[in-house]
Amino acid sequence: MAEARSQLARQRSSPHGVVVGSVGGFQISLDYSWFVIFFLIFGTFTSAVFPAYIPGLSQQSYLLMGIVGTVLFFASLLAHELAHVARARGIPVEGITLFIFGGMARTRTEAARPREEFLIAVVGPVASLALGVACYALARLADQAFRSTAADCCGRCCGGSPGACARPRASLRSRARDWNG
Ligand SMILES: [Zn+2]
Repeated sequence: MAEARSQLARQRSSPHGVVVGSVGGFQISLDYSWFVIFFLIFGTFTSAVFPAYIPGLSQQSYLLMGIVGTVLFFASLLAHELAHVARARGIPVEGITLFIFGGMARTRTEAARPREEFLIAVVGPVASLALGVACYALARLADQAFRSTAADCCGRCCGGSPGACARPRASLRSRARDWNG
């Protein structure tokens, strides 16, 4: 009974955190220390990273970009951990915990063979690398599409005059101005 109750308690709240749901049947929890890293990353994205990459936007824009960026950052971390647990076939998985230093896949036992353990360990970094390459390619494609649209529009609006079109485009806002003509 006490065992059953403690099991239930463990299911509702991980030792030092909160259970937020489950993905693919794996329980996802956030350790209390995770909130520290969440606000650190959110603050860095909002006040330093995005303003440095794309200066001249409004504070609300940076706030929105910060929220989206931070959520995607932790989604990629979750994808890394999910790759580990998805590969851990036959090993009982308790769930995934995100904490201040990253993520942790909680399994009850270890793999029986070194080869299996290696495969479980290696799929995480492989998933992260694949995600990184895919996102980089997507960013390059989006940038190219935006540039060609802007150049096309500029060519039509000001007759392709190099002086008018070769303005330095330091920010998205000035790009948007080019784009709007
Ligand atoms: Zn890993």
